[in-house]
Amino acid sequence: MTTTDRSPVERLGERVSAARSEVTERGETFYPGPSRVHLAAFPPKERWDDWVELDSRSWPRRVEKRSMLVPTTCFNCESACGLLAYVDKETLQVRKFEGNPEHPGSRGRNCAKGPATYNQVTDPDRILHPMRRVGGRGEGRWEQVDWDTALDDIAARVRTAIENDTPNRVMYHVGRPGEDGFTERVMASWGVDGHNSHTNVCSSGARSGYHYWSGIDRPSPDHANARVMLLISSHLETGHYFNPHAQRIIEAKQRGAKLIVLDTRLSNTATHADHWISPYPGTEAAIMLAVAQNLIETKRYNREFVRRWWNWKEYLRAVHPDRPETFEAFEEVLATLYTEYTPEFAEAESGVEASVIREITELVAGAGTALSTHNWRSAAAGNLGGWQVSRTLFLVSALLGAVASPGGTHLNAWNKFVPKPMHVPGHPHQWNELTWPLEYPLAMNELSFILPHMMQEGRGTLDVYFSRVYNPVWTNPDGMVWTEVLRDEEMIGCHVALTPTWNETAYLADYVLPMGLASERHDLHSYEQYDGQWIGFRQPVLRAARERMGETITDTRQANPGEVWEENEFWMELSWRIDPDGSLGIKKFYESPKNPEQRMSVDDYYGWIFENSVPGLPEKAAEEGLTPLQFMRRYGAFEVSSHVGQVFERAVDSQQLEGKHVTDLGRVYSTSPKPPAENLAPTGAPQPDAQGRNPVGVEVDGVVKRGFPTPSGKLEFYSPTVAEWGWPEYGIPTYIRSHIHRDRLAEDQKVLISTFRLPTQIHTRSANAKWLNELAQTNPLWIHPQDAAALGVSTGELVRVSTDIGYFVVKAWVTEGIRPGVVACSHHMGRWVTKEQPERNGGQTAATVDLVREGSTWTMKRLKGVGPYESNDPDTARIWWGDVGVHQNMTFPVHPDPISGMHCWHQAVRVTKAEPGDSYGDISVDTDKSRAVYREWLGKTRDARQVSPDGSRRPYWLMRPLKPGPDVFRIPGQGDA
Ligand code: SF4
Repeated sequence: MTTTDRSPVERLGERVSAARSEVTERGETFYPGPSRVHLAAFPPKERWDDWVELDSRSWPRRVEKRSMLVPTTCFNCESACGLLAYVDKETLQVRKFEGNPEHPGSRGRNCAKGPATYNQVTDPDRILHPMRRVGGRGEGRWEQVDWDTALDDIAARVRTAIENDTPNRVMYHVGRPGEDGFTERVMASWGVDGHNSHTNVCSSGARSGYHYWSGIDRPSPDHANARVMLLISSHLETGHYFNPHAQRIIEAKQRGAKLIVLDTRLSNTATHADHWISPYPGTEAAIMLAVAQNLIETKRYNREFVRRWWNWKEYLRAVHPDRPETFEAFEEVLATLYTEYTPEFAEAESGVEASVIREITELVAGAGTALSTHNWRSAAAGNLGGWQVSRTLFLVSALLGAVASPGGTHLNAWNKFVPKPMHVPGHPHQWNELTWPLEYPLAMNELSFILPHMMQEGRGTLDVYFSRVYNPVWTNPDGMVWTEVLRDEEMIGCHVALTPTWNETAYLADYVLPMGLASERHDLHSYEQYDGQWIGFRQPVLRAARERMGETITDTRQANPGEVWEENEFWMELSWRIDPDGSLGIKKFYESPKNPEQRMSVDDYYGWIFENSVPGLPEKAAEEGLTPLQFMRRYGAFEVSSHVGQVFERAVDSQQLEGKHVTDLGRVYSTSPKPPAENLAPTGAPQPDAQGRNPVGVEVDGVVKRGFPTPSGKLEFYSPTVAEWGWPEYGIPTYIRSHIHRDRLAEDQKVLISTFRLPTQIHTRSANAKWLNELAQTNPLWIHPQDAAALGVSTGELVRVSTDIGYFVVKAWVTEGIRPGVVACSHHMGRWVTKEQPERNGGQTAATVDLVREGSTWTMKRLKGVGPYESNDPDTARIWWGDVGVHQNMTFPVHPDPISGMHCWHQAVRVTKAEPGDSYGDISVDTDKSRAVYREWLGKTRDARQVSPDGSRRPYWLMRPLKPGPDVFRIPGQGDA
């Protein structure tokens, strides 16, 4: 193809992708843009102290606006793209946010949600002061309190819980952390096993599949160098790390790489695919196995890679002890394992034609080691057994040897960099059975979404519950069970909501504490977005700008609006007050290194990390005459390494092989002291052997290689962990029929896909981002024309969607972009505020509702949608829309996967025409039915007390946030762990 064959858009894109900074004759950085005349895309970094633009509103007069450009990090999804705040030098206010060209992951580009940070910062309805409830929880009466009052009360409660030896009655429940390790360190310093995440309503399914293979729980596909990209979900528009990935996917497409997308919906991602595959939900693993079987049958797999890196010998020994432990014997067995997974079988399961499956198999086979693959939420988050979706997807990569190869799928621990902070607290010596119950020994993350059910069963209560960037009443399934528990002061003594905006969970808090938005707080983070490692530094931009102008600022509240604070300083101050005299052993973790009598500052914390824990940063900063902290404040990001490659192939240094012991499966242990903390080490590394020797690698063809952080050191095609912990039938990658498999549905039921995002919304966080709200305000039910005709509904008409515990009433959207028999509704809309709350708490996005409880039945009736209103932002008087969508998650019961712990989001539903009296947005839920479904799914588990092979609660090698010490892994009353 010649240049002239390409469309203008493609040529434009090529120039964008080719953009790399250069130095001009003036000694300035030049960031080439897409313009044909080669205009710059970004201001040269040498002029970031004084950037001049003409004021567009003053035209035709030439009025100069001078800005200081201060980097920070977007917080509107998990990608953590770089932003540049344009801080007006006269008013010291932010004028706008654009991309940061110095950020290695996002490279100056953002999606719509990045610049919309400006809306959030200037939101007229944001919370500016600490608030305390007056009257009963949820009654909507609030009073303003000062920070000291709130801090002293909360600190006293936490201290009492610790002193009473009930530390697990303190829980911190986070939605989007947006940081690497800061708050885990806080919980560890308090000695509580109190970390609770949202991960089991998000990504545990996919994580499990990757973790059982590799010991690492996330993929890092190298799309930019791929020949073929195989995605299970919508990564081009909304998925995990989507902007950094999307730009690299498009670069690869421009080179001619092919994109295969499995997505039941015709998503924006699917529209960009060369091959869009729309399977019946939950059958994706069957398709992957059909692809794998073909590679095996035609011997187009990478034989050397499989021989060297799969734990095939361990598999033969455990499952085929009668066979010789030779690779040839394994290949004979492998040839028989998946023979039932023909394209015709996959077609019968998925509805995707066998010929299409054959076609994509040929593409995949031709990609060789340049096949990049990715699954994150999507099918892995929707289905019972969804974790096998990522496990079978990785099987395809592992068959081709496309693991950490150029254009292949890398692993996150090697493409992510988490520096060590000073004073690392030890492991807590507590085990919290409210988050890690014995029924789920293999769960990847906390069983967070069944917390209220377990509390209602009498398994425990909480003294202090912190919710942070999290809105479980609205985000989780079974929101009304959450409401029942959050309203109950016997179950939750004090609920502290740390949030910039009001939300359905904050309405049920005792304290609502205003926390900074993306440009008003400090955080450190790193995410796997290409074959390299970077760190990004989120900072309060007004604070940084004023410091650049010579001011001294000691507390971020001095620069933030109102009394808005940030989590970092909040946790440090709270910890200081919990242990003022140091008697609890907490204070020492918060002492300033310069003066132990003073509390640590954020400059102390990050300054130490940047000076001591980030290789190459001090030298790079010195080149510019800056301290490492000054460098990060100026540029916001630093690339630690690039082209990391196949870490598992690296030979282990002979100094680490003292007293070397090699098991007959090739695992290598040594008595060498553990090497200093490595940048590439994942957190869930296997434990020492019975003699206390450390695992240092694995012997491959006579050489000790670093290998993978699995118990075997190899890629675990066969997972002894899964097999020995009660699930031998799932030891190797396989296909598990979903809870919404066709055979399990009644004649009149359909599958509801509820897991997809809208590209311009982000859960609770995009509330009051007016540009985003103008772009997306509703979430109609996608329904195929055949199904719509059978029901007699057309676009815009109301339908009732009934789940196992209730129903919601929504508008239909008739589209061929969905399979017959499947309906879909995005979870991003349907915010609400009860009529008892102050009206402005609902802001621009929430419908005002009447929420009524009668026994176990909750009904929600919409009183009004949104509309224009007066505020200090004239745009709120111009709101032209009234719709806000419908809250569907509230009508979903909990479906915890018995292995991964992931909530299986897909629902078996009945879709009917709306009934007389039904109105848009009506919701009804019976929480007695919720409890029955919870117990039904609990019955699918295999309890550690029955299946644990060694008397422990959970395999010690598995990753776990805030991992406790080995001493508390033992099940009370059972043998040694
Ligand atoms: S992809 Fe968009 S929302 Fe996500 S971090 Fe980047 S700019 Fe922000």
